[in-house]
Amino acid sequence: MIATPSEKPVLPGSAIGVLGSGQLGRMFAIAARRMGYRVHTLSADEDTPTGQIADVEINAPYEDLDAVGKFARAVSVVTFEFENVPAATVAAAARYAPVRPGGHVLHTAQHRLREKTFLLEAGLPVTRFHRVSNPADLAAAADQLGLPAILKTADFGYDGKGQFRIKSPHEFVAAWNAVGEREAVLEAFVDFEHEISVVAARDIGGHFVHYGAIENHHRNGILDISVAPARVARRVVNDAVELARAVLDKLEVVGVLCVEFFVCKDGRLLVNELAPRPHNSGHFTFDANITSQFEQQLRAVCLLPLGDVTQLRSAAMANLLGELWSEGEPNWLAAAEIPDVKLHLYGKMEPRRGRKMGHLTALTQGTAAALRHVRRARDLLACKL
Ligand code: AMP
Repeated sequence: MIATPSEKPVLPGSAIGVLGSGQLGRMFAIAARRMGYRVHTLSADEDTPTGQIADVEINAPYEDLDAVGKFARAVSVVTFEFENVPAATVAAAARYAPVRPGGHVLHTAQHRLREKTFLLEAGLPVTRFHRVSNPADLAAAADQLGLPAILKTADFGYDGKGQFRIKSPHEFVAAWNAVGEREAVLEAFVDFEHEISVVAARDIGGHFVHYGAIENHHRNGILDISVAPARVARRVVNDAVELARAVLDKLEVVGVLCVEFFVCKDGRLLVNELAPRPHNSGHFTFDANITSQFEQQLRAVCLLPLGDVTQLRSAAMANLLGELWSEGEPNWLAAAEIPDVKLHLYGKMEPRRGRKMGHLTALTQGTAAALRHVRRARDLLACKL
């Protein structure tokens, strides 16, 4: 051990390291630079969404532990914007700078089986599931859970990737092939009423803040629209927040974590997934709240007091995916005519199908109007002159 993690606050003017270089890191870097911090980012890519804002962009694979060590030596604290960072990378960084949230949080949240086992053991409600490590397991698990069911890779899955919805036993082979013939989880299909999430932060002293329940609508397994506050019963909001508090406490998170839930038809909540970082469903906080989820991550990992989470207006966020560019450049001018809609673009050059290129946030009085405005703005983007 070359340096021991310090528990002293990391003050403005210091450098912060971000593992990963996507849009979450970009918005974190904007929040950090606004408060006078310097930002270093490491990933295998160049000219990245985070790198365009950061002071220093290091291009190296996570497996290049010399580069990771050099990166960590130059900063006062390391955080991440992408949870699928190998454990060895985190360990190499942790030799030189504290990593927050800690490697144990990543270890749990980057693997579906570990995550679900943690939730079960903590007494938190999860979708019924079985581990699957070969086709025979899959048949046995489907027998137990019934069909339809969803087969998901145990690791490196996000935005519906590495998933296969099985409707009949004829699809077992196709499903096993689709997850790459490796360790997976079969989940019972949940006929949910809504999907919601709670984005929350916890500081090193255990103080907890949250952004309430956020209502999420997906398309093709990818988040499409979020509405805040969620249009669900107060009891559902309270239950979701208490479950999120339990998750952050049990994992001793120092940072931001998002819990995604299914709200069942009888009002029961099931945890779908954990993301140990700011989350797409919390992007509205960048415009709508006194302290955004990104500033909150910064404050938590720098050991500053957490900020006020008050939401100033109702908000709706719509993702802009690569397909919006299929007929050429979107009509920015038309969308700009809706004055309460904010445009965020992530600086990505290649608009591939399903790729998150940016988002819009509408800020109004009342969620119905916010939803209407954000949908209208996105439709206008797709309208050619
Ligand atoms: P995930 O990447 O696991 O969050 O899945 C992406 C989306 O697929 C979720 O937000 C749901 O809309 C849907 N989904 C995932 N798992 C299930 C399930 N067990 N039952 C029903 N829908 C699911």
